[in-house]
Amino acid sequence: MPTHPGRDLIPTDACLVTGAGSGIGRGTAIALARNGTGIAAFDLDRAQANQTAAMIAEQGGRSIAIEADASSEEPMDEAIRQTMGYFGGLDGVVVNAGINGTWAPIDDLHADEWDRTIRVNLRSTYMTLNKTVPCLKANGGGSVVIVSSINGTRTFTNPGATAYSATKAAQVAIAQQLALELARFAIRINMVCPGAIDTNISCSTEVRHPERAEVPVIWPQGSVPISSGEPGRPEDVADLISFLLSDRARHITGTPIFIDGGEGVLR
Ligand code: NAD
Repeated sequence: MPTHPGRDLIPTDACLVTGAGSGIGRGTAIALARNGTGIAAFDLDRAQANQTAAMIAEQGGRSIAIEADASSEEPMDEAIRQTMGYFGGLDGVVVNAGINGTWAPIDDLHADEWDRTIRVNLRSTYMTLNKTVPCLKANGGGSVVIVSSINGTRTFTNPGATAYSATKAAQVAIAQQLALELARFAIRINMVCPGAIDTNISCSTEVRHPERAEVPVIWPQGSVPISSGEPGRPEDVADLISFLLSDRARHITGTPIFIDGGEGVLR
């Protein structure tokens, strides 16, 4: 992968971010753009993607906002075509789009609810990688970051989050498998595993009968030790993703990094 002497905090020249219309994806797109990276801001929600692009333009950055369901093949083909036409290449990818989906006891979790979480979180991960790896190979290398979670990798205490946890664990397996497959192409692939982050993810969450699935433990002082119980901010995760995309992380691949303020150690 080409290095940028004196610009080692600038991760990439052009980076695709899925789910860039909100939360961690938006925070990451804005942080990367501030450092000079061109952003392909993909989101299911066109208005939200446009808003991210407007925020990037306000700070003098470059971006293209594209409406695309990251789990669907044809929209992703078209979105990648537009991205390559706009930037001429790609050297960074942030696989971020995701939902919490339905959290319910396993005997109350419907098959369609299971399928939806798997599709949005996991099929979109496959689809984004399937469509972008050829671009990274053509570029002569690149860096990928998958946004997983502490759920399913370090903690298992969110009652009913079985489908969600399964997708987040699978993302770690995918990244570790591909770190080996893609190393010969100078493509690094890592995962960030956030704890509670202040985003809009509660809008994509349905919780049913948690009392039937939970182990009743209460944390009296809040569950995020480093911030007195407060959740992290998208910017906290964006800084870590920016580092992993940059040449400063040139010897890191196949690595999950927990970013949870110590929440996962406590829980
Ligand atoms: P968010 O709801 O604020 O943002 C998610 C964005 O993804 C939205 O703009 C939404 O429109 C988009 N999206 C959803 N489905 C999509 C699809 N099929 N195709 C394209 N875009 C789609 O949530 P967030 O908290 O920023 O979540 C981002 C990622 O972070 C998710 O993968 C989530 O699992 C992970 N995560 C979040 C937290 C947290 O506490 N917020 C913790 C751990 C991991």
